[in-house]
Amino acid sequence: MNTKAVNRIVIAGGGTAGWLAAAALSHQLGSVLEITLIESDEIGTIGVGEATIPPIRVFHKLLQIDEQEFMRATAATFKLGILFENWARKNDRYVHSFGRNGKPTWLCEFHNFWLRSVELGVKSELGDYCFELQAAKAGKFATAPNLDINYAYHFDAGQYGKFLRAFAERRGIRRVEGKIKEVRQHGETGFIESLVLQSGQVVDGDLFIDCTGFRGLLIEQTLASGYEDWSNWLPCDSAVAVQTELIGPAPPVTRSIAHDAGWRWCIPLQHRVGNGLVFASRFLDDESAKRELLASIAGPPLMQPRVLRFTTGRRKVTWNKNCVALGLSSGFIEPLESTSIHLMMVGVTRLMHLFPFGGIKQSAIDLYNEGTRIEMEKTRDFIVLHYHATQRDDSAFWRHCRDMPIPDTLRERIRLFKENAYAYQGDSELFRVDSWTQVMLGQRITPGPYHPAARVLGDNELLKFLADYRSSIAETVAKMPVHQDFVNQYCKAPNSVWQ
Ligand SMILES: Cc1cc2nc3c(=O)[nH]c(=O)nc-3n(C[C@H](O)[C@H](O)[C@H](O)COP(=O)(O)OP(=O)(O)OC[C@H]3O[C@@H](n4cnc5c(N)ncnc54)[C@H](O)[C@@H]3O)c2cc1C
Repeated sequence: MNTKAVNRIVIAGGGTAGWLAAAALSHQLGSVLEITLIESDEIGTIGVGEATIPPIRVFHKLLQIDEQEFMRATAATFKLGILFENWARKNDRYVHSFGRNGKPTWLCEFHNFWLRSVELGVKSELGDYCFELQAAKAGKFATAPNLDINYAYHFDAGQYGKFLRAFAERRGIRRVEGKIKEVRQHGETGFIESLVLQSGQVVDGDLFIDCTGFRGLLIEQTLASGYEDWSNWLPCDSAVAVQTELIGPAPPVTRSIAHDAGWRWCIPLQHRVGNGLVFASRFLDDESAKRELLASIAGPPLMQPRVLRFTTGRRKVTWNKNCVALGLSSGFIEPLESTSIHLMMVGVTRLMHLFPFGGIKQSAIDLYNEGTRIEMEKTRDFIVLHYHATQRDDSAFWRHCRDMPIPDTLRERIRLFKENAYAYQGDSELFRVDSWTQVMLGQRITPGPYHPAARVLGDNELLKFLADYRSSIAETVAKMPVHQDFVNQYCKAPNSVWQ
């Protein structure tokens, strides 16, 4: 397709996606590539995106990022999961944690044993057998060499960008400040040749990474790659965000509280809380959304609320010619399960695996695009589940979610759980069985008959095993420090980070 060797990378945009790509590429391939990043102070970044999921720790390890240094620099806290409130019914609460539910066997998942115990009259929840979930409920946290705990972070998005920028600049990235006003393409192939800045400066490259956010300046405005709109399944198209002072200790969970026309996030950092109301504009107007958000937040606001607009969906191709889109330019599912930063990390890793040193070939492009499509679609199904599996009928929005059509893949999955108590993690799927079962049960989907393998233990043997399991978790959690105390001694950010 194009046999020209790829040596010069140009990253357009310096938000989370741009600096994350810059950090990864400079760390892994910096010695053999010339990397330039262009960002515009005038346009700035979107400034949200502060909750993550556990694979971020693997990514940081690959980059040899020191956890304590990163957490101090970004005023980060730990995250053990998400506390969902009012989702299936008003006053419902459940935690989708990053932990495993009990111990599965070769034949069946643990929730089958739990279902049998409920049938035998044990008054326990599946979450009683999940260590991270119990720690989250108790507001406890610790890391230690002998403690197997799965977690992620909340961090200040602006500080994370600065942290990654310093990391990438130490590894030789060239940063150019300026607004891109023109994208020059090859007359015949349409490949991008250079970006022209408002100052007149021309930046040439062999491969361009579009991290310009929702604009998609290269991937869409220039290459017209197309967009698959998912708003028929994910009806929220707006968010209003505001930061508030932190009052009280930070819990190790993101809160996700369902409202009448959407839901509200609450992300505790060391110095402040990030809040936002994600809503569907056809059910709630901007001014009412702002009022609703300001009326429900706990601490004093640190800024004026600002409205963001988006269309859920994915770019039809995220690698087109010599341009790869990462971050919001590649699509946006929505922030409910904090998956966007993860998808950026997977995207840049996949690009490095398929890196076109010897020229850009269609076979690599196709494999890249197929991987992105599968990942985004499977993640989408998990998010749609939260909206659709609701018993709320107290607002037009929730009635719409309950009655809307859903992807066939998700319908089948719900049916499997309802008819067979069967949940699974398919190939290339991000969310594990533990996540599917925690959310399906939390959304009040009733599982069908459990697997007969759950009957292999006698009643008393099973009940004793389960009681021991619960007490062992409870004892470990009781000994753990309060999350805020652990943060204070492990990674307290200096005042300079937030002043
Ligand atoms: C409401 C909301 C909440 C979110 N919450 C989460 C979350 O909790 N967890 C999560 O993982 N993800 C979340 N996301 C998604 C995503 O992680 C963040 O939005 C992320 O910070 C966006 O990064 P980005 O780099 O793609 O875009 P941006 O931050 O928009 O960066 C775009 C960059 O491109 C530059 N640029 C644009 N045009 C030009 C030009 N013409 N010339 C030069 N530079 C240009 C800008 O200056 C900027 O540097 C959320 C998204 C939204 C909308």
